[in-house]
Amino acid sequence: MVENEFRLDDYHLVEAGLTGSGHKHYIGPRYICRFCGRDRSTATFKHKAHAIPEFLGNHALILNSECDDCNSHFGSTIEPHLEKYTRPFRALNGITNKARKTPKHRDEQIELLHMDRHTRNLTIKLRNDDSVKMDEDGKSVSWSMSREPFIPSLAHKALCKIAVSIASEHHLPLFEPTINWLNPRSEAGLRVVPTLVVETTTPGTQYRGCAYRLYLRNTNTFPHCLFWIAFGSYSLLTFVPTQLDRNPGVKLTSEIPFVPDQRSPELIEEFGPQTHEERDLSPDTLTTFPHRVQVHFEKMEQHGPPTS
Ligand SMILES: [Zn+2]
Repeated sequence: MVENEFRLDDYHLVEAGLTGSGHKHYIGPRYICRFCGRDRSTATFKHKAHAIPEFLGNHALILNSECDDCNSHFGSTIEPHLEKYTRPFRALNGITNKARKTPKHRDEQIELLHMDRHTRNLTIKLRNDDSVKMDEDGKSVSWSMSREPFIPSLAHKALCKIAVSIASEHHLPLFEPTINWLNPRSEAGLRVVPTLVVETTTPGTQYRGCAYRLYLRNTNTFPHCLFWIAFGSYSLLTFVPTQLDRNPGVKLTSEIPFVPDQRSPELIEEFGPQTHEERDLSPDTLTTFPHRVQVHFEKMEQHGPPTS
């Protein structure tokens, strides 16, 4: 069953889903905002609030319980940082954004990196040949993509906002500290250092759309809640602060597990092992770090300008 397949240490799976295009699905009651607590007497609910931002490939999962003020607040304050943080992953995997286009990546090494949405062909135009390291014996090629500067702590906050958005109504009391922190009408701050995020690459896997899972444990050990989100062949796993973290005698760990590889041994043999990278998203000032890519190939043809 699902519970077994998605097993993660001593955590229980409490939510799981896959969203993309197609029929809309709605979470939560209408006309009551789960972030600021207001209803129609003091807030408006005219806009469709996506439970997961559209740039992560979700065009269908809608949160009823988000007012227009909170929606525009998240869209202008935290989501742009998650957008910049995830852009290299999304460009490499051709994840469709709000305009249903796949993002283009450019930096000082790469003139253009773009996946065609229809053919799924990835085009990379380099500014010079040194931008890519080729290992012809190992049949792999690697390069580095730089990101536009972003505020890591706000990218993590945007991930926590998604976790609260996809949570069932009956779990919301658990997320009170996170909800207060997200509420634009509250002054509550929240900070956990290090703000760990595990980036996992699973070669040969392509989630069509955006997959998510929410895990909880009640073991008096922080973190009690983990949120996992995957698009293309990438996934991110991080903690979400909960009420349980405030219980007396809570043990603090600054470790989060890796989600086990679910591929068959044949697929792992064919495409290679998963890779994991731990990030600390606690900085609260504009910063950047590169995204390193390694791609295995069977055959490579080089296309360059014609030589005369
Ligand atoms: Zn609100």
